[in-house]
Amino acid sequence: MERKYWNPVLETLPRERLWELELKNFRKLLSYAKDHSALYREKLKGVDPKEIRTREDLRQLPLTDKEDLRRAQEGAGRGLYGDLLGVPWEDVTTFRQTSGTTGRPVYVPETYESWQWRVEAWCHILWMAGFREADRVFMPFGYNVYVAFWEGHYAAEKIGCEVVPGGALDTKGRIDKMREVSATAMMSTPTYGLHMAEEAQKMGIDPKEIGIRRILCAGEPMPGATRRLLEEVWGAEVHDHIGGTEPCGWAGMCQQRDGLHVIEPFFLVEILDRETMSREVGEGEEGVAVVTPLGRRSFPLIRFNTKDVVVRGKDGCACGRTSMMIRQVLGRADDLVKVRGVLFNPVSVEEVLREEFPEVREYEVLLERKGAMDEITLRVEPEQEMGKEYHLALRGRLIERLKMKTNLRFEIEVLPPGTLPRYTLKAKRFKDLRRS
Ligand SMILES: [Zn+2]
Repeated sequence: MERKYWNPVLETLPRERLWELELKNFRKLLSYAKDHSALYREKLKGVDPKEIRTREDLRQLPLTDKEDLRRAQEGAGRGLYGDLLGVPWEDVTTFRQTSGTTGRPVYVPETYESWQWRVEAWCHILWMAGFREADRVFMPFGYNVYVAFWEGHYAAEKIGCEVVPGGALDTKGRIDKMREVSATAMMSTPTYGLHMAEEAQKMGIDPKEIGIRRILCAGEPMPGATRRLLEEVWGAEVHDHIGGTEPCGWAGMCQQRDGLHVIEPFFLVEILDRETMSREVGEGEEGVAVVTPLGRRSFPLIRFNTKDVVVRGKDGCACGRTSMMIRQVLGRADDLVKVRGVLFNPVSVEEVLREEFPEVREYEVLLERKGAMDEITLRVEPEQEMGKEYHLALRGRLIERLKMKTNLRFEIEVLPPGTLPRYTLKAKRFKDLRRS
């Protein structure tokens, strides 16, 4: 019989049992961090782990954000990691770091044991997405010091898949390799998945014929429309997951492909209302994900503010898993901005374009201040050169659809094909120029 769960016991525990386990491990982590991490010795002064009994009690504890980690890294502790480290320096076996796109990178030390803990959490994500022993998984990236694809690589091996690293090749070389070895699965950012499909088509190859049956996406928020587009061009099941360098991948998509399962009891996850960060939101409400990875000692992390804005789902799922559900990932809190008093999420533009404007190949959104007013401009690049009349019609449709979706009036610029930058790994299509 097909084995349904990676860990049949943990994945189907009643929710009260999950909470008991998470609370127990949370207290242990608190005690450990107070004793072994200079960052938390300071941050948790006066906190008695035994007094944490309810989810309300959790919220009395301070949050940890990226800036805390950067400061701690520069603290007086030993080596590269300063005050972040929770183990003797010699026990560290793995170095990873954040990308540093939002400031100085944070270095992440792992011991052999804590790295294996991350890999195990990722096994849940891959198994849920349908990765199995018979899969040959192609990794179209060089992973460098960045964590997600390393985790995916090791977890796929642990499951029993065969992993083909495709780092030192260009896109064409990767497509050739995938065909040569008959890969059945891959991991990719959504942007690169679409880019690869386009390159394959240029080579005269229909991506569907390569034989990829499932794709796990990482690295960027992926609206449903983009996921469906990837499924269509590759003829594959596409699964999302959410995670980060500091906490690890902490939620993944099961075969229902309707929201994400938090990987419990590996992570204690709170979804807090964005305004006050002091109340857990209910089903259907949006909030910021605060994540505590419960099994790591090398890099203790307590109530990490991921700044990922998500919509909480209804617990319980047709797949039988009992974990907390995330209905949708909306994007990064830093990217959600107020424009003329209206809250705007750049991902909504991608949703509209992918769903209704297949002729638009590339786009970017610019937010500028003109006098006292914010002005928002969408620059689009159609697949091929079109006449003036077509441009006018396209502009009209875009203004109308975007107004419906975002409640904002966009300026539209239609550019000749090949004008906008192409992104291969992660896209940066939203530019808020009011800040600069
Ligand atoms: Zn499920």
